[in-house]
Amino acid sequence: MSYKNYPMVSRVIFGRGSFNQLGDIIAPKRRNIKAPFIFLVDDIFKGNSWLTSRIPLAYQDKLIYVSAEEEPKTSQVDKLTEEIILSFNERPSGIIGVGGGTTMDLAKAVSIMLTNDGSAKDYQGWDLVKNPAIYHVGIPTISGTGAEVSRTTVLTGPERKLGINSDYTPFDQVILDPELTKDVPKDQWFYTGMDCYIHCIESLNGTFLNAFSKSYGEKALELCLEIFLENSLAVEEAQDKLMMASWHGGMSIAYSQVGVAHAMSYGLGYLLGTKHGIGNCIVFDHLEEYYPEGVKIFKDMKAKHDIELPQGLCADLSDAEFDIMIDVALSLEPLWENAIGKNWKKKVTRDKLKALYSKM
Ligand code: NAD
Ligand code: ZN
Repeated sequence: MSYKNYPMVSRVIFGRGSFNQLGDIIAPKRRNIKAPFIFLVDDIFKGNSWLTSRIPLAYQDKLIYVSAEEEPKTSQVDKLTEEIILSFNERPSGIIGVGGGTTMDLAKAVSIMLTNDGSAKDYQGWDLVKNPAIYHVGIPTISGTGAEVSRTTVLTGPERKLGINSDYTPFDQVILDPELTKDVPKDQWFYTGMDCYIHCIESLNGTFLNAFSKSYGEKALELCLEIFLENSLAVEEAQDKLMMASWHGGMSIAYSQVGVAHAMSYGLGYLLGTKHGIGNCIVFDHLEEYYPEGVKIFKDMKAKHDIELPQGLCADLSDAEFDIMIDVALSLEPLWENAIGKNWKKKVTRDKLKALYSKM
């Protein structure tokens, strides 16, 4: 038995208003005045001076707005990387991602592709990245995915939706400023928050569970229940706690895995473009058989916050389309092994998945 030796985020700052310190934090990392910092910022903040006036642009630094309308694609990463290479004579001093999981994953992927040849699609998988990424900073503006702390960047490529999982993926610096999440719309708050809740349920009920994952998973779950079920916290306290729940949920799956909801949600995402947070909710709602207690509480939380999930997503799909989703879901073997156990292939059939997808 050989244990995995994981890298972690090397530096983290936490606190309301800590975003103001971004300039001081990155300044020592500027290699020279011709090596810019590139800020990838969710375009939801375009025209929002409360946030953008605090982005410390100097010398040739560049702010690029990116859309979170669709989840990141390998082709988009390649395009951004090329744009950056063509615009400057020097390699950038760093990439700073400001936004949700979509924007942070783009920042991670671009920082890797600036030092590695070829296309991002060549690196989807486990430990395929050869050269260290350039300095990269993650600044979440919505909480739940754990992308700020994880060792992966999830990309949709021509053949699959799969992460670039590598020792070079985690951020060198993260800024956790819960105030940045203050304008997240309620439905999106719920969907992305539930990503964290589902990480906990899948990790804590998985066969890969160990004391490391359990300690983080239990803490994240406790925080999620306080926020979404008891629903008695002051607004700011809930923002602070959800940001820490996201962090702990991400740490919990670092040393274990996610499970059935994520595997099936990747299928929905690949075929229909359903986004991660809402997709996980749509799937998880039908997984009583696998996670009875977790799904029961999920339904209570959904009712408490008046969340209506879309129905009938798969109503008009052809057999070939079901097959595509089933192929994507079943290809994520570690997730099924975690959820069901070593002999999962005997228990999880294509018919079973088709029956579940048909309900969604
Ligand atoms: P997101 O980044 O897709 O954003 C969701 C929506 O919220 C967007 O419309 C965005 O503009 C908006 N938004 C973000 N911050 C806001 C703010 N402060 N105010 C108002 N609106 C705001 O959402 P997400 O759920 O954080 O990320 C999903 C992505 O994360 C997916 O692409 C998924 O694959 C990825 N993911 C990555 C990991 C990882 O470990 N790398 C883990 C889970 C999910
Ligand atoms: Zn997730």
